Amino acid sequence: AVRLTAVTKEFGALRAVDGAELTIGEGEFFSLLGPSGSGKTTLLRLIAGFERPTSGRIELAGREVTALPPSRRDVHTVFQDYALFPHMTVEQNVAYALTVAGVRKPERLARARAALRTVRLDDHGPRRPDQLSGGQRQRVALARALIDDPGLLLLDEPLGALDLQLRQEMQRELQRIQRATGVTFLLVTHDQEEALTLSDRLAVLDRGRIVQTGSPLEIYDRPATAFVAGFIGTTN
Ligand code: ATP
Repeated sequence: AVRLTAVTKEFGALRAVDGAELTIGEGEFFSLLGPSGSGKTTLLRLIAGFERPTSGRIELAGREVTALPPSRRDVHTVFQDYALFPHMTVEQNVAYALTVAGVRKPERLARARAALRTVRLDDHGPRRPDQLSGGQRQRVALARALIDDPGLLLLDEPLGALDLQLRQEMQRELQRIQRATGVTFLLVTHDQEEALTLSDRLAVLDRGRIVQTGSPLEIYDRPATAFVAGFIGTTN
């Protein structure tokens, strides 16, 4: 689904992403794990198309997209702050991409309801975002991002604003929704437990470089560097 070749992003003298090589398979739950400032969000923004790489190549679904704007990448992003439209109902929020695409109302409503069922908010369509809890808002954001069946869903610390219990509940929810939809998920997190629990595979970032890619078990059992060992919390 995703292929990065020698992707580098510089901000002035700072190399935020340094020679990233990455392949993510169709339908995988993949995470980018690293401490603050390691380049996770920059990498995500490059894949979304909000930033252009200084050099390197980005392919999505076998198509080069390096110079394409976000709207032409078949990718949606879910942010930590949900970014729901406060003046619209839940149903209107969820159907937004279809409205923009000119899909007619009966079909829009049917698909919005199906998406709300997927995130288990069947009865909440007529409400407004301020009448929902944090976890429910995040599920609306997920439904909105999944409504037009994107090839790839980018999730930037989507659970970062939630308290611990809700966070664990939403982790299971994320996993269930990914399995139910089969959409490729790319999650950015600094929480090693979250990345290890949820991902099929993950990449660990250290100061702009991908230092290891593998399954949670591979990375936990055989950390490639002292940094990975320390960050994952094992000593090998
Ligand atoms: P966090 O978990 O804190 O969000 P991160 O791993 O996502 O961290 P990035 O946000 O990708 O890290 O930042 C990587 C580096 O690039 C940081 O040193 C950051 O200050 C820098 N950086 C990011 N965006 C810009 C920008 N637009 N202009 C200048 N520097 C930037």
